[in-house]
Amino acid sequence: AKANGRNGYFIYESTLEKLYKDKLTLKLDIERALESEEFVLHYQPQIDIKDGRIVGVETLIRWQHKKRGLIFPNDFIPLAEETGLISQIGEWVIKNACLQLKKWRDINIPIMKVSVNLSAHQFLKNDLAQIVEGVLAETGLAPVHLELEITESMTMEVNYAIKTIKELSDLGVKISIDDFGTGYSSLNYLKKFEIDYLKIDKSFVNDIETDKSDANMIHTIILMAQNLGLEVVAEGVENREQLKFLGNHGCDFVQGYYFSKPLTAEEFESEFYNLQKD
Ligand code: C2E
Ligand code: CA
Ligand code: CA
Ligand code: CA
Repeated sequence: AKANGRNGYFIYESTLEKLYKDKLTLKLDIERALESEEFVLHYQPQIDIKDGRIVGVETLIRWQHKKRGLIFPNDFIPLAEETGLISQIGEWVIKNACLQLKKWRDINIPIMKVSVNLSAHQFLKNDLAQIVEGVLAETGLAPVHLELEITESMTMEVNYAIKTIKELSDLGVKISIDDFGTGYSSLNYLKKFEIDYLKIDKSFVNDIETDKSDANMIHTIILMAQNLGLEVVAEGVENREQLKFLGNHGCDFVQGYYFSKPLTAEEFESEFYNLQKD
């Protein structure tokens, strides 16, 4: 496969799908990767727009493949969904994200929450709350410090979503709706979900200054969130103008390259908390 650069990393032009002859090969490779610890978690800071402090981190998975190099989630998560192995990966992510935040909080790094992206498969399995409860017990992280990100499309089955979100919310974990504005929202139902945050998709933030309809969309989402008593996180903030617009319109939290790209735990510690890399 021919290589080209993305974020300075080495990726392949052909899709992973083409590289694996069949689902079984991929499945075996993912199982091997789980065992040999090829998955790594990167963390991107979420900043309180009022005082500029880091309040949380979003967990973003990467596959550091022994032969194929660094693989980004959009290239393997959909395939992992198809093989069903996403559940194992997903549980590994929740557990390791919780362990990491527990570790940081134990050394007095004042990060309030770690957020984890859920796959549709994970959200639609009925033992999710049990799994999350188990991980919290095992890692010793208090539930308020964990946030789970779901997307609008996962909530299409409204009654199921209401029930599952309530189970999670009863555990004490926080819930956010990710990529908000990109799906057909069951806007009518939003108030029935026990959620805490709306995350504005970066596609709206991107053209904030030039695209009037994107700017309006953001304005509308924030007003609606305020009406519903939800807090708003904007993703993909890359410059001061975007930050200023979001601040002026009442957005609560921001994340994006303007502050930091996603970093490994070690990079994160040395970048923001002056801990030495080892
Ligand atoms: P997402 O949850 O919407 O995450 C935001 C994506 O935007 C991330 O890409 C992040 O690295 C990137 N990003 C952050 N700041 C900026 C910015 O300022 N500008 C631009 N252009 N991009 C920015 P990434 O890490 O490649 O992840 C892609 C998607 O993969 C995520 O989208 C999420 O849906 C999924 N994903 C990531 N980790 C996991 C995971 O552990 N489990 C599951 N199920 N999905 C995951
Ligand atoms: Ca997300
Ligand atoms: Ca997004
Ligand atoms: Ca997403």
